Order: sequence, then C-alpha cells, then structure tokens
Amino acid sequence: MHLKEIEALEKQYVLQTYGRNDIALVSGKGARLYDSEGKEYIDLTSGIGVNCLGYQHPQLTDAICDQVQHLMHCSNLFYSEPMTLVAKELVESTGMSRVFFSNSGAEANEGMIKAARKYSFDHYGKDRYKIVTLRQSFHGRTMTTLMATGQDKFHQYFYPFPEGFDYGQPNDFDEWKTHIDEHVCAVIMEMIQGEGGVVPLDPSFVQQVSAYCKERDILVCVDEVQTGIGRTGTLFCYEQYGIQPDIVSMAKGLGGGIPIGAILFSEKCADTLQVGQHGSTFGGNLLACRSAQTVLSIVNQPSFLKDVKEKGEYFREQLRSLHSLAIHDVRGLGLMIGVGVDPDKRSDYVKQLQEKGVLLLTAGQDTLRILPPLIITKEEIDQAIACMKEVLQ
Ligand SMILES: *Cc1c(COP(=O)(O)O)cnc(C)c1O
Repeated sequence: MHLKEIEALEKQYVLQTYGRNDIALVSGKGARLYDSEGKEYIDLTSGIGVNCLGYQHPQLTDAICDQVQHLMHCSNLFYSEPMTLVAKELVESTGMSRVFFSNSGAEANEGMIKAARKYSFDHYGKDRYKIVTLRQSFHGRTMTTLMATGQDKFHQYFYPFPEGFDYGQPNDFDEWKTHIDEHVCAVIMEMIQGEGGVVPLDPSFVQQVSAYCKERDILVCVDEVQTGIGRTGTLFCYEQYGIQPDIVSMAKGLGGGIPIGAILFSEKCADTLQVGQHGSTFGGNLLACRSAQTVLSIVNQPSFLKDVKEKGEYFREQLRSLHSLAIHDVRGLGLMIGVGVDPDKRSDYVKQLQEKGVLLLTAGQDTLRILPPLIITKEEIDQAIACMKEVLQ
C-alpha cells in the first residue's frame, strides 16, 4: 500500500492519539529505514530508543526466528531457559540480586513502585508510602506512572489519580529536600530526563540524593527505561553517576524491537514481592527473553559500549563544530543526544530533515532528540551531520 491509502485507513480506524509524521515505514537495514514510497532515511530515532541493534541484525534475526520455531510463549507457571539467562546476565553485570520481567517501561515502573511501597510496608507499616520523583520527569502512561511523572500536563482528565506522589526540582538538592518527610518510602530519578528534554542530572545532585536516602532507608529507584541497555555508553547510565540504586527499571532497548521490560532488585528488596504478589501473563516470555538475551550478548561488551561512547562524543563534537546560531546547546551522554533549538522553528527543522532523509525526534519544549541505533556507523553520522548543517545554518 502507498502512504495515502495507509493514512486514510489510519484516520478512519485507529484512535487518534498520536501526532504522526507523513511517513509509513516498511523496512530497514542497519541504521537505515525505507518508507512505502521507497525513500531511504538515516534513522536517528531507533523507534524511540528501542531498535538498539538497528534493522535486520543477523544475530538478532536468527535468534528470533529460531525461537519462533521452538516456542514463543509459555506461562509463568513453568520455567524457561531464556528468562533465566537474561536475569543472570543483568544480575551479574550490575551487582543487583534478582529480576522481574514485564512488557513495557510503564509496567516496569508500576512494579518498581509496588515493590518500593511493599518494602516500606514490611519494615515501617502503612503510613510510609510517598514517592518523590522529579519535575520534568517521565515515567509512563498508566494511572500510577502518569502520577509519578512530574509534569502537570499529564495530571488532567483521568481523575481520580492515585495518591502519594510529590515532585522535587532536579539539580537543586535544597529544594528537593523540602519534599522529604516521614511518609516518603522511595525516590525515582532518570539519570538523563529523556521525554523531558534530554536533561542530564548533575552527578553531585544524584550522589547527594542517594546518600541522603540511604541514611534514611528511603529506596533509590532509577528509571533506566530510555537510558539503559548501552544507550549512554555503559550498560546502565547510573554507573556513570557513581551510585548503587536499590531498584532499576528498564524496557525500550532491552528487546531490540520485541516488547519487554524488567525490574532489577538489590539484595535489600530481592524478597519483597513474594508468590502471588505481582505477575504478568506475557512478562518475560520466551520470544522476548531470547531477543533480550541476544541484545545483551552484543551490547554488554566493553568494546561495543566504548564504541557507543566514542560515536556519541563524535556526534556531539560535530554538532558543536557546526557553530550554527540555530543550535543553542548540545547535551547528553553516549548516543542519547539533545540539541536545543528555537521552539517555534523546531517542527520545521524536523520536516526539512525528513525531506533530506534524516529522521529524528523531539523532547521537552525546545529540543531535537537524537537516539540512533547503537550500531550506526561514523559515515552515517557524517551524512546526518551534513544534512543537519544544510537545515540548521
Ligand atoms: C518511554 C519511557 C517510559 C514508558 O515506557 P513505555 O514502554 O512506553 O511504557 C518510562 N520511563 C521513561 C524514562 C521512558 O523514557
């Protein structure tokens, strides 16, 4: 089908909750995508940080096809090898203790919130339930994760919302501290706020928060849904912040395109959720875990991660060396990059870049967001930069 037909069907039959680009993608190879009209793009979106190995990665494709030919799904009432191998890899790479599998980032965060409250209930009773997140954060679209999200625009229409959330100012420890009282059981932070505008937290802020919480047995929860799985040049971004969280959530890149999320628990709360207290039908199914197992076997290698770091630094350097007045600043770590631009011109830039064959995302009010597949080549970065130069100068 051509774009016009697909578009017409979408407008008629699909709930109109997304502002879509006028492109229907049909295939991909490496870090390149192809649309219904045969046009080629360099992909700087990776499906919002999902397709970390790009498209048609031979090892990932083979592993998924092999798993489909054996068994895609069985219930969590039975054991499965792929699940145990993904859990082992995550635990042994982080010094954490156990893993729970979900299907998405919001679901991983729901489980993280449930576990944090249960931990506090077990140790301190039921009056210690409050969770402090950060302003401009994003944690998902379920009722509870909307409430965990520190942006007022997400707290509309769907009343009543779950109680027990409060929001501190990122990178302002004194302000943040005013939100902590005897009812607080946990804090949740993204090390780099993704949807909020690619805003990295200051390491000193993160370390102060972490130390303050550890003294009071307030659980430090890190949302690595966007920053995790090698995106920033380490398996998890928190490693670069010098903290050891109590709970970590992840999703997006973990399955390389197959939906899967996970929660990592430290020893402290590895026994908090017990038989019957949490679950998921699809969570950790064989296909998703086989995919995640393959993604981790490739991404979680020192040479691969070093390459992500170097390509990210190179990309940022090239953006800065454009000396474009349209670029206000360049932020980020690894291949999670934010480019500050004039908010009124931003959607124009995105459109013009699409016409030139470069797909990218936006975030926050004034940011172009770049999240390429981690396997993007230096030549592809150069090509994208050349297009950005034409559009932004
Ligand atoms: C995308 C995202 C989520 C939500 O993940 P879904 O898979 O869309 O539910 C949560 N937290 C962060 C930081 C994200 O970037």
